[in-house]
Amino acid sequence: MTFSNKSILTSLLVVGALVLALVLYPVEAGFGFQLLRGLVLVGVLVVILLITYSRYQERPRENQEESAASIQLEEKAFLNELKSHFKELIDSVFRAVKAIHPDYVTGIYMIDPDQKGFTLQEATRPLFRKFVSGHNDILNSILNTEDVLLLQESDLREKWNLIFEPQTWRGSECLMGVRILYKQTPIGCILTTIDHFSKIDSRDRELLKNMGEFFSLGMSKIEKIEQLLSDNYYHSRIASLFDVLEITSNEKDLFEMVLRMCRSFFSYDKLTIATLDPYENNLLIRSVDGVDSDIQVGKTVPLDHSMAGLILQESKTVLTANRSQEFPGMTRFGKEIPEEDEFQVLLGIPITGRKRNLGLIMMERKGHRPFSLSDRHLMELMGATIGSILNWIDEYQRMKRSSIHDGLTGLLNHNALMDRFHEEIERAVRFNHRLVTIVLDLDKFKRLNDTYGHLFGDQVLKAVSMIMKNNVRNIDVVARYGGEEFVIILVNTTVETSLPVAQRIITKISEYPFEKDGESIRVTISAGMAEFPRHSDQVRSLIEKADQAMYQSKAKGGNQVTIFQEEKPAAVGTK
Ligand code: GH3
Ligand code: MG
Ligand code: MG
Repeated sequence: MTFSNKSILTSLLVVGALVLALVLYPVEAGFGFQLLRGLVLVGVLVVILLITYSRYQERPRENQEESAASIQLEEKAFLNELKSHFKELIDSVFRAVKAIHPDYVTGIYMIDPDQKGFTLQEATRPLFRKFVSGHNDILNSILNTEDVLLLQESDLREKWNLIFEPQTWRGSECLMGVRILYKQTPIGCILTTIDHFSKIDSRDRELLKNMGEFFSLGMSKIEKIEQLLSDNYYHSRIASLFDVLEITSNEKDLFEMVLRMCRSFFSYDKLTIATLDPYENNLLIRSVDGVDSDIQVGKTVPLDHSMAGLILQESKTVLTANRSQEFPGMTRFGKEIPEEDEFQVLLGIPITGRKRNLGLIMMERKGHRPFSLSDRHLMELMGATIGSILNWIDEYQRMKRSSIHDGLTGLLNHNALMDRFHEEIERAVRFNHRLVTIVLDLDKFKRLNDTYGHLFGDQVLKAVSMIMKNNVRNIDVVARYGGEEFVIILVNTTVETSLPVAQRIITKISEYPFEKDGESIRVTISAGMAEFPRHSDQVRSLIEKADQAMYQSKAKGGNQVTIFQEEKPAAVGTK
């Protein structure tokens, strides 16, 4: 491809401007318009790409002999880079959704104007159809809804089957969809599905909404990256920026990573990263690199009449090569911090969160060498990225605090159980106590569901949970480990002493008078027990060993409990 011809470039620019106007022009929702917009967007992207290519061509080259082959190689590398950014973006979304709930299956669809529909970009499991028609109501509603759309298979049936590959459905399956925006226009969606609605925590919707925003933000980053790619210096290093998209769960690690990246991208005499305390209206200094005689990590500074305050209160980038002249009477970090007049060159950006500014990054130089426009672009990109990650950290922490209980049974959920188990083991070690774990799994539960329906299955799960809870002490722990599997921790006891407790639970469940349409139904459960530290001192292997014992109960016909026993070592050959 050669686009050195100026007239082609000019007409492309005109077309670009026209289509941009179309994109920005407000239109009614509806697939026709979405498709048009999608087309237009692709047009804009192509124009941007072409212009970028032509700039590559026009740039004076040291070596005029450079062959067409090497230009093609450069173009190829450039396209590959864009593709790999997109792939990384998808992967980070998949990782994040898996972290929300391991049973979630996710797929990402993008509008495909050529085929008048939506094409699947990628999915964590092969559940979704590769292509969905542009007339599909479900995807269109998702594209036209700001919030996360929650849908259930039993309410949709045929429409549902247009999105999913053929398979048998129970009716309890749920789908959550959130749209992806590019320049404020829906261009695709993230679909997340799970086999049973009770597994969806109320926080999940909020998290998925975040995912949509995260992805949209990522798309705009890809666009910014196109701008930056015209600058050779950044070209080679930009890939590492995407490492930041990793969802880290620790603020300290994040700031360290940002500092390392700034060090490799920019040259400065001082770098300051600070977060905002919105209640106190002051800044907490989180990282300082370079000169640190004036301000140190851990210090809090007020916002008023300072450059830092200006960046945050007006939520804008400040780029200056002559601070005292451009901003007379302003301090850098407030009156309490000693002024360093040598610092005249400054680039400061807000770290932007979803609802408010979360902090800032400020780079300063002595002397007169100003920061460039590319520096500014890259810094703004980092500010938005860090903001989205900080939002994530915040969300994760809130989620961890609020989702301890399983929605259907009210028992502790899987994650909460694992946390609690570790705590109980630590306590047992401290007091030199023993502890028993029981793994329980309902017998032939699938058949029960298939015969009497899932609502009945849910009732059974609730009743069984209640029986377990009512037959242990308050200090013991009862959790829903998975679908129809439970784990009980009995503290300060042994398997021999607590065997009657397990037996009582099993008997009570088998005697519970379940009933459906006048028919009385018996439900049984199998259990296995293991003891800390006799069988293991590790949480995972204690559960595994109790699980093995539980399977022995099943093998013996179910409706019973088995205590874990190491297999006797095979007899060693004798003489
Ligand atoms: P086994 O005796 O070997 O344990 O057989 P099983 O049928 O109980 O075991 P399997 O693991 O094959 O099936 C478990 C079933 O539990 C599959 C799934 O449909 C059902 N299930 C999981 N979670 C829920 C839920 O929240 N509600 C209902 N109603 N059913 C659920
Ligand atoms: Mg099971
Ligand atoms: Mg079972």
